[in-house]
This record gives sequence, C-alpha cells and structure tokens, in this order.
Amino acid sequence: MSTSPLQGRPSILLIYTGGTIGMKVDPSDQTLKPFDFSQITEEVPELRKFAGKTDSITFDPLIDSSDVEPSFWQMLARTIRDNYEAYDGFVILHGTDTMSYSASVLSFMVRGLTKPVIFTGSQLPVGIPRTDGKENLVSAVEIAAAKDPSGHALVPEVCIYFNEKLMRGNRTTKVNSEGFSAFRSPNYPPLAEAGINIRYSNSLVRYPLSWEETPSWDTELDTRVSILKVHPGITPQTVRDILLGSDTRAVIMETFGSGNAPSRGWFIDLVREAAAEGKILVNVSQCIWGSVDMGLYATGRALREAGVLSGFDSTTESALGKLFHLMGMSGDNEWVKKHMLENLRGEIDV
Ligand code: ASP
Repeated sequence: MSTSPLQGRPSILLIYTGGTIGMKVDPSDQTLKPFDFSQITEEVPELRKFAGKTDSITFDPLIDSSDVEPSFWQMLARTIRDNYEAYDGFVILHGTDTMSYSASVLSFMVRGLTKPVIFTGSQLPVGIPRTDGKENLVSAVEIAAAKDPSGHALVPEVCIYFNEKLMRGNRTTKVNSEGFSAFRSPNYPPLAEAGINIRYSNSLVRYPLSWEETPSWDTELDTRVSILKVHPGITPQTVRDILLGSDTRAVIMETFGSGNAPSRGWFIDLVREAAAEGKILVNVSQCIWGSVDMGLYATGRALREAGVLSGFDSTTESALGKLFHLMGMSGDNEWVKKHMLENLRGEIDV
C-alpha cells in the first residue's frame, strides 16, 4: 500500500461524454437530459483547487450511456490516442448504465498503457445537493494525476473510480441502480480506496513492460456476438435462434453456478452444432462471484466436451468487449478462441 502526493504540475484531460453526472431536469417533460461541461465546472468549484492543469473535451452529442455504440468507443480511443502525449492522465465522464462495457472494451483496444484512463460518473447529477458526482470527479482527477517518486503513473490502467473505490475497468459490473455504490469488482480487489488518503494497492496494479513504450491502439471491432442466458424452461427454438443465428460469430453462454447448463440431449446437440460451424462459444457464469469450472459437474463437462471455452471469472461485459476486440483484429475464429483463453489485460484469472 502507498499513498501519493502529487508531483510536478500534472495535466489531465477530462472527456465529457454525458451521463447523469452532467444531466438536469428538462422542465418540458421532467426527464433528465445532459447539459454542457461549463456547468459541471461551475457546480464543482473544487476542481479549480486541483494542483495541476485540466483541459476538457466535450463529445457531441452528449449521450445517455444507454446509447453507446461501437463508434463511440472508437471515438473515445482516438481522442485519448491523439492527446496521449500532451497529458498525464485521462478522466472520462460517462453514464453509469454502460460504463463497465465501455471500460472493458477500451481496456482491450489499447496495449501498453503508461497513463491512467479513469472512468467516472454519478448516481445523482452534480447540480443536486446530495450528489455523489463531486467526490467521484475530484478523486478521479487526483488518481489520474498520481505518480510515484520516479514520475510514473501509479495506476496506468483503464479503471472505474466510483464511491471511494478504484477498480480495474474490465473487472467491474454495475450492481445498483439506486445506491451510491453502483459498481463492484467481484473477482478482483480494488486497486485503490479513497478515505482521508487514497490508498493504492500497488501489488494489484498492472504495469507496462516499458514506460518508454507508446501504446498501440486497435480500434477495429466486430460486434457479431450474442448472449444466451440459460434458464429453466428455455426452449429449443430460443437456443437454436441464438446459437445458430446467421449473423453470430460468437456466443457468450451465461450459465448457472460454476458453468453448468441443461444436460438434455437437444441442448447439447445444438451446442455441438454451433461449435461444428466454428462459432466461438464462451461460458460465463450468471454468478457474479467465482469462476467457471467445467470439470466440476457432468453438465459443465458436457459443454466443455462440446467445444465451449471457459470464460473463467470474467464478467459478461468483459467477455463481450474482449470478443468485439479480438474478432475485430482477426477473421480467424481459431485465433480468437486461442486468445480468449489468455489473460490479456488482467480481466481473468486463468
Ligand atoms: N442513464 C444514465 C446513463 O447511463 C445513468 C447514469 O449515468 O447514472 O447515462
């Protein structure tokens, strides 16, 4: 554990994309709509006390994160890539609904990151007295600027900072639509916790192979992935439509417990048929804590034997982002399968 004072005069780029943090009530229909960044800085004067420099870029249009699309992630990646040299860290203001998806996919789109990329947002808009947005934003900026005595970023990763916790982005999931503690990283401890001091767990952080490295960005994404959430009573037609869909290259199978699915003949036959077509089938548990182990029960073993890959302790958001990224890099499903089983950005414990 270490705590870090700021060093030098760090510069942070704030990228405002929308989300509750910057919304206010539209009197015409009483719904929350995004407003512009200058009003955020007005509502968070604490930002002016930050010892470094902050600049901002506002996305146009500002969106509710339910409207996030792959083109949005590509724009985000390009914005960071094009401004990488000029800043010590990046803070992305983003809606909470799909923040884990965005943080996951972005973590795969960049390799060799040497600077922090911190997503944050809030459950209540910054203009509301009890907002959680101020603390989230101010701490995210401080974390994005934090360096060790040799001037290297303390957390050169894509993360989410929310409600006193800094979490690896591709380990997170949104778990609460009302409480301030909206995110969990169920299978990996927080990288830092903010109290009076921000305490960093250095041993949990991933560092680049070389600090001199310029990160490489792969912005191609292939989104032909479906999610099959198994449940008691699921029908053969539903399973067939999802597993054998003509526009589906990969299927994330959200299974029970440690990776189990119905053992009935028709189910396994459909899985075998999809595998024989070369589809990429990945097993992720519906449980948020723990890992898939397809050797434990006969029902799990049948999936493994049919050609389903373990998603280990991945979140669905992370498996989705990883598939989008790997499939965007290659049209060869065997290559994608091989890399799905590897821990690329700290997203799984193999
Ligand atoms: N619907 C909002 C969004 O994701 C919710 C939020 O920001 O908390 O943009």
